[in-house]
Amino acid sequence: MEIRDTLSSSLKEIETREGKRLYMFVCGPTVQDDPHMGHARTYIFYDVLARYLRYRGIRLFYLMNITDIEDHIITKMKETGRSWEDITATYSSRFFDVMEKLKIRSVNYYAFATDFIEEIISQIKRLMKKGYAYETSDGVYYRARKFKEYGRLSKQNLDQLMAGARVEVNEEKEDPLDFALWKKKKEREPSWQSPWGEGRPGWHIEDTAITESIFGPNYDIHGGAKDLIFPHHESEIAQMEAISRKRPMVKYWIHTGHLNVDDIKMSKSLKNFVTVEEALKNYWPEAIRIMMLSMKYNAPVNFEEKAAADAQGTAERIAILQHRVDDSPELKTERAVEAVMKIFAPLESDMNTPETMREIVSFVKDSLAKKGLTIQEKGEIRYVLSEVEKVLGIVHTPPLPERSLNVLLELRNELRKKGDFTSADRIRESLNSRGIKIEDTAEGSYLWW
Ligand SMILES: [Zn+2]
Repeated sequence: MEIRDTLSSSLKEIETREGKRLYMFVCGPTVQDDPHMGHARTYIFYDVLARYLRYRGIRLFYLMNITDIEDHIITKMKETGRSWEDITATYSSRFFDVMEKLKIRSVNYYAFATDFIEEIISQIKRLMKKGYAYETSDGVYYRARKFKEYGRLSKQNLDQLMAGARVEVNEEKEDPLDFALWKKKKEREPSWQSPWGEGRPGWHIEDTAITESIFGPNYDIHGGAKDLIFPHHESEIAQMEAISRKRPMVKYWIHTGHLNVDDIKMSKSLKNFVTVEEALKNYWPEAIRIMMLSMKYNAPVNFEEKAAADAQGTAERIAILQHRVDDSPELKTERAVEAVMKIFAPLESDMNTPETMREIVSFVKDSLAKKGLTIQEKGEIRYVLSEVEKVLGIVHTPPLPERSLNVLLELRNELRKKGDFTSADRIRESLNSRGIKIEDTAEGSYLWW
């Protein structure tokens, strides 16, 4: 399987031997606001990558950090008067809630930055010992120029980096490129003890402290959105490789493109910010996944009503097909296996999910067009859809086990036959409240969700 690696700007082979161990780290959210569609875009892709690698027989350990201390959180505290505990607890639980709703369950471990303060301090101490870090009156900084390859990931030389560096009012910093490893406490800020006095970690060091303590200094895959390449990921390499001298820090750097809303990059200042919860009011989670997967992971995705409605249509057609075949057991025949292989083959070439989606759409279209499916055909379709679900998470399933639903439907029919319409309606309402609709036709009653 091939994947595009940002550092070497080339397609690199990922060896997918059965039982092979791979370690993947993806930058998680800063928990200071509701998860938005940009998050959905990023984390749906890495979820599908994780599911696919596991499907290929790899024993993948997927680690994600949760940034629970960072400048944006401090800003939020100041703006709202809320406590650090309140903000981070509220938004981390909303994040997990949204991940669950979007069927993103592939992460093995979520590491909260503030649980790794000791490891962060240990890394800063080692950087100081090697001459890569220095203390000022307001913090500890990394000496970026001392790391000769600073700029390699983002393909920039020092002059270009200088031009882009934010010039802060900080006389003590040796160089504008230097970045904070530790920030000394200012009034009313949350803080932890350190050899440099009370304070909090810089953003970049949180991730390398977490990955070093869980994976060691070297691991396989590091993912995140493209806008994290510089300075975040660039600085991670500088920190970890300066400490360990074991290169490369990771074998594959994978970066996802951003999300546009109606062709404009989503951003808070433009007020075109769409939260995942808002989108879920109008679209199934499966539709959101389909929409994101219909674009290549490293290209921008445009969130607009038409694309979302198309994806919802696709999700519904898949659900109709699933519904049509659910009275037959799964049947793994040669033909069914071939159909699955055809669907997943594009994922081997740099996770070409749009091509995989086209294969699925055509499979669903052909299957729905067939009149009078045999039990064998139904079983084969069921097998294909269940494999598709394992990797892509796009088959809409009922919110209650189907068996219980059928029992309720039968009970309602009995009640209606007896003329007890009040009780029958109560069942309908109770199902409705869980998002399940009953459709009464001349041939009988059907459930729809
Ligand atoms: Zn990160």
